[in-house]
Amino acid sequence: MTARQIPFIDLMAQRRHLGQKIDNAVISVINSGKFVMGPEIESLERQLADFCGVKHVVACSSGTDALLLPLMAWGIGPGDAVLIPAFTFVATAEVVALTGATPIFCDVDATSYNIDVSSVRQAIDKALGMGLKPKAIMPVDLFGLPADFDEIIGLANEKELLVLDDACQGFGGVYKNKKIGSIGDAAATSFFPAKPLGCYGDGGAAFTNDSELYEKMLSIRVHGQGQNKYHNVRLGLNARMDTIQAAILIEKLTIFPDELKAREQVARKYNEAFDGIAITPLVHEDYVSCWAQYTLCVSANERASIQKKLSDLNVPTAVYYPIPLNKQPGYIQYPSATDSLPVCEDLCERVFSLPMHPYLEDAEQQIIINAVVSTLKS
Ligand SMILES: *Cc1c(COP(=O)(O)O)cnc(C)c1O
Repeated sequence: MTARQIPFIDLMAQRRHLGQKIDNAVISVINSGKFVMGPEIESLERQLADFCGVKHVVACSSGTDALLLPLMAWGIGPGDAVLIPAFTFVATAEVVALTGATPIFCDVDATSYNIDVSSVRQAIDKALGMGLKPKAIMPVDLFGLPADFDEIIGLANEKELLVLDDACQGFGGVYKNKKIGSIGDAAATSFFPAKPLGCYGDGGAAFTNDSELYEKMLSIRVHGQGQNKYHNVRLGLNARMDTIQAAILIEKLTIFPDELKAREQVARKYNEAFDGIAITPLVHEDYVSCWAQYTLCVSANERASIQKKLSDLNVPTAVYYPIPLNKQPGYIQYPSATDSLPVCEDLCERVFSLPMHPYLEDAEQQIIINAVVSTLKS
């Protein structure tokens, strides 16, 4: 039963669901001529702020720039250390290195895959031993599951560190009644097309309740502007979001809550099917994942067999992430909390992700489930 290729993320199904709305929104921006910083930008920022219950939102050009904005605004730079997980997308480390600060890689928890606070403590000692000043922790809400914020913020308060949530996979999630975006000193998300809330190109947003930080991020977004674009008071970027992307996101945000529910259903069905035969994603009582990815953990051999079987059936899979950042050629010069990061290194050999999106049909999901179950039981 090799029907059509099952997409990993079905953006065309979403487009059909939205009908003419996106086309109309895009055409209205084109007709307005306000391609850069048109009124849709502020409107999107207001709606995102309301969605997650935070005071200020800065829409910008990508998730990477959304992470860079607060780091630059805080003046983080050479001599500073920022503590990050090694099991994440490279941008988490990249933005720290771009400021001139030193990223220190921490291990992750074997059940949540999110940063392990005991490893962060070791990273702080490591930084101090190297003569660096620990300035911030950047937890990542990996695969959509919120990080362990109570412990992270507790440690940050104890050590006087800032917390920047890399919520590029986490937007839409909830941690103990608080929406992702509203937790920590600042948060950043990405609207890359494959993220749970994606636009039709690159886009991102930074979130904070701190008005002073907000003003600085607005300035950095446009070349460090002061009174205007030609009065420059600090080092900045060109990190604006295109108006067309904001118009697209405004339409997609209206269906986002329903999409989150649909993702939850897909995840539940996978979880029930794989319970007891693979390590399924952790679902805490008072956390809501936005299910950016549905990731299973099996043995390295099982992973290879499942990927082969699914590929034969025209079903795509992905490995996030095959190499921990502490082992990436471009990043080996940066220190780790401990000589090795055993959990990160083990997970890279064993995890893989299955198609996950709000429009995955029951019959298609069943084909995927049958293939995984039969391979694991053979
Ligand atoms: C996608 C992602 C980013 C970067 O977002 P872009 O919009 O692609 O720049 C950063 N961190 C994590 C964890 C991500 O998944």
